[in-house]
Amino acid sequence: MSAAAAGRRVDDAVDLAGQRWDSLPVRPVVLLPAGSTEQHGPHLPLDTDSVIATAAASAVARSSARDAPETRMLVAPTVPYGASGEHQAFPGTVSIGHEVLSMVVTELVRSLSQWAGRVVVVNAHGGNLPTVAAVVSQMIGEGHDVAWVPCLTAAADAHAGRTETSLMLHLDPGRVDLARAVKGNTSPLEEILPALASRGVRAVSPTGILGDPTDASAAEGERLFTSMVDEIRLRIEAGLVDEHGRLREPAERGARP
Ligand SMILES: [Zn+2]
Repeated sequence: MSAAAAGRRVDDAVDLAGQRWDSLPVRPVVLLPAGSTEQHGPHLPLDTDSVIATAAASAVARSSARDAPETRMLVAPTVPYGASGEHQAFPGTVSIGHEVLSMVVTELVRSLSQWAGRVVVVNAHGGNLPTVAAVVSQMIGEGHDVAWVPCLTAAADAHAGRTETSLMLHLDPGRVDLARAVKGNTSPLEEILPALASRGVRAVSPTGILGDPTDASAAEGERLFTSMVDEIRLRIEAGLVDEHGRLREPAERGARP
């Protein structure tokens, strides 16, 4: 496997799809990466969110297997479509919308719950958030052992900007066309949110970029990715879930185990 392809694939040792049914660990923690297929500017591939979610989940499971083999974490195949209506004016975007995403996550959790331990949705697409939070908290209410965690980074810009471009330069550099990266709409998200919500991303950014990817670098991407993976792992190991079904930072107050 080339280094570039490695960014898109789950490590064999923790890849659920490569296991045999009779050799699975008992009640493993299953990470379910949730991405999207949507425009990411003229310089990033449509599956950017899926690449990030898959790579983060794989790295979390791998590092956990190395340091705490008793945890037994596996990564399920990535959900490649999400709720991307705000990007629909750009060719290439394939959205299943909130209602269907909600049904997909519901059925996947119900099915996984038959044999898995805790299911953790690892979400890398902001547009999926309200649905993932609503479904997961509802399923917790129904008695399922499920939670979600965002692929957060410090000081992230909104879309296809410096953060995502740096992450992709680290994870899958062969598919980043940096020569076509241009400065997008860099207004604060709160400012453009009303227009974005009513008229979509294209109304506020003709290139589809929200942020400025021109200063992105693989070194920054590596730093961002490492802290993202550490953060997700910390939250999974602490196992504290808030009222939205989100795994909390161990230091946050008011969490229940
Ligand atoms: Zn994205």
